[in-house]
Amino acid sequence: MSMSLCDDTLLCNFTKCRTKLSGFAWVTACSHVFCDQHGSGEFSRSPAICPACSSALSGKLDIVRTELSPSEEYKAMVLAGLRPDTVLDISARALAFWSYQVHQEHMYQEYSLSRAEEQLKQMEKVLTQQNQSRELELTAMRGEITSLKKVMEEYKRKYSEVSERLMERNRQYQKLQGLYDSLRLRNMVVGVGEKDKLPQPGHHDFSTGVARQATPQRSPQFFSMGHDGESRLFSCLEADGAKTFFQFSSPAREKGRSYIKKH
Ligand SMILES: [Zn+2]
Ligand SMILES: [Zn+2]
Repeated sequence: MSMSLCDDTLLCNFTKCRTKLSGFAWVTACSHVFCDQHGSGEFSRSPAICPACSSALSGKLDIVRTELSPSEEYKAMVLAGLRPDTVLDISARALAFWSYQVHQEHMYQEYSLSRAEEQLKQMEKVLTQQNQSRELELTAMRGEITSLKKVMEEYKRKYSEVSERLMERNRQYQKLQGLYDSLRLRNMVVGVGEKDKLPQPGHHDFSTGVARQATPQRSPQFFSMGHDGESRLFSCLEADGAKTFFQFSSPAREKGRSYIKKH
């Protein structure tokens, strides 16, 4: 909205108005100009004070209501009869008023621009600070994530250790369970054997070796324990040795023979 000397309109000097002047305008001795609305409003009071510069306007010609586009008849008569130097003096003062207004408007625009630039700088500063604080927050969060990851790794490690231990315990338990089952089965077998010999109910004698000797051939694990187990185990190994002998007999005869000699 820059205004050159040739722009054909001035703006109302009332701060919140700044409307383009047309029709009638109120001109003051302090070189200010107002629209018809603000001029008639402000200068109806007494004493009149300029709303732009607070000058007291008490003189008879300090405030003039001027028609901005005068008629041809008016223009033909207003300076007629005056000496040339007076005509030029009046013209020069009117031009000075105009150039002052243009200058004021220019100053106002520059002020507005610098204020906008200042606001822009302030906003940029605020944005930069916000960015910096976000960056700091982000760095702190990243650090937190890293430490949480470490904690999680530690938990994972502990978990795998504990589950490893649990699996080991489970294996031990399975082993014991197997052992227990085989012992129980053996006792049942022994019990059944005795029952066959001694059919009397409620009279199970486990101490006699009769039942055990009478028991028919079982898989080797049932004979690995007990006082007569050794002989039976030996016979099992003999059977194994015979098997091994047949396996070794064709490619390595000597080895197979020496193995079987031991028994
Ligand atoms: Zn106005
Ligand atoms: Zn003024």
